[in-house]
Amino acid sequence: MTKRALIIGGSVGGLFAANCLRQIGWDVTVFERNPDELAGRGAGISTHSQLHDVMRRLGIEFDDSMGIHVTKVYFLDKTGKVYDERGTERVMSSWGRVFRSLRDLIPDHDYRLGMALTRVEQDADGVTAIFADGSRERGDILIGADGGRSSVREQFLPNEQPEYAGYVAWRAMLDERDIPPTIYAQLFPHYAYCLPPGELFLAYPVPGRNNETEPGKRAYNIVWYRPTTPERLADFCTDTTGKSHGTTIAPPLIRPDVIAWAKAQAHERVAPQVAKIFERDPRPFFQPIFDLDASRIVFGRVALLGDAAFLVRPHPGAGTTKGALDAACLADSIAAHGTDEGLARYQRLQGAFGSSIVQQGRRDGAYLTEQLQPREQRQNKALTWSVEALIWDHNERSAVVRRLFEASRRMAE
Ligand SMILES: Cc1cc2nc3c(=O)[nH]c(=O)nc-3n(C[C@H](O)[C@H](O)[C@H](O)COP(=O)(O)OP(=O)(O)OC[C@H]3O[C@@H](n4cnc5c(N)ncnc54)[C@H](O)[C@@H]3O)c2cc1C
Repeated sequence: MTKRALIIGGSVGGLFAANCLRQIGWDVTVFERNPDELAGRGAGISTHSQLHDVMRRLGIEFDDSMGIHVTKVYFLDKTGKVYDERGTERVMSSWGRVFRSLRDLIPDHDYRLGMALTRVEQDADGVTAIFADGSRERGDILIGADGGRSSVREQFLPNEQPEYAGYVAWRAMLDERDIPPTIYAQLFPHYAYCLPPGELFLAYPVPGRNNETEPGKRAYNIVWYRPTTPERLADFCTDTTGKSHGTTIAPPLIRPDVIAWAKAQAHERVAPQVAKIFERDPRPFFQPIFDLDASRIVFGRVALLGDAAFLVRPHPGAGTTKGALDAACLADSIAAHGTDEGLARYQRLQGAFGSSIVQQGRRDGAYLTEQLQPREQRQNKALTWSVEALIWDHNERSAVVRRLFEASRRMAE
């Protein structure tokens, strides 16, 4: 009889799981809490060859329509002068582009919107998902792909909570056609770094708001990491009515005075070209950076995947890649070893890989976290950025992710 997987969360992790399990003959249904189709979150993402490999095996060619090829990295000083320039080979895509290509492969009747999971029950024959509207669904396994604040993880690991890293990522995006011509001629389509003391500012081209990669329709994306005390974060997460939203706030609720302050800070801290791009986005927003190294990712017939399993700081640029690798490993393990043995293998392999990539993210972000310490207590390496180290990270990131993946595989098998 055909086996059925219930997948909680309809973002990229859930969709990788759905597509990989469909490929091995499983019946899958995705349950997404959001009432409307997810689309155009606008966030740019860097990609790795392992992500391209998993997409290819699902029949999605990672061709020119998937992202923008970047071949040059600029380092800009505060006056806007290029003080270093290096070659690179990266493909910058967007969350929306990857999401769309995966979502298009799932029939609408197997992708159910407005379904918020509240609880999971298990017995000897399988798993039951219970939703906020009171409905129940039965399956052979349940995959919790419900993100960094996973309610599936909360049920099974209530004492393991994401930890604030001490900084936020401000994000902005400007359509290619809105970039002033003089800035455009110098910057597009290159990758730019600015290194204000204690911070890290990156800017790079991404597909446009409707996933276009043709010249003229693309966009320029900014990620600006800024140390932010918990007290200041609490203020940023308080809306105009005075309501506190805890440690994160939906972008439309960020107060105008917080946005105006960030724009003024951009002019004080980074090169004028990129500050102007940041300023021209009417609604830049911030994402507080959290991480979590989960002690387990399989609980009987329930498995966690993607950010729900391990929440990684964004520096390895591998959140989406990890979701893809988790899904491929889960499907391969079940196909080769059956459901229970397969889940045990998934725990061993992706448990080790997830943990190692969380540690890598912590090493990469240590400089930013250290900024909240009094200067005399910081470790030496936290006192400056080095162009050489940054460019090495930039160009070797895919190789590092591959090495971590292979090392954890050797350790776990
Ligand atoms: C600043 C920043 C930069 C990043 N840059 C990159 C990059 O360059 N490259 C890269 O690969 N990754 C990057 N990432 C990470 C990447 O965005 C995530 O790893 C990826 O989106 C995780 O996908 P996911 O499907 O596991 O979780 P999510 O995208 O968080 O999706 C979880 C889904 O589950 C749904 N859900 C939640 N609770 C329930 C419930 N109870 N019932 C039903 N549905 C539910 C949510 O609505 C959501 O749609 C970055 C992240 C940040 C913060």
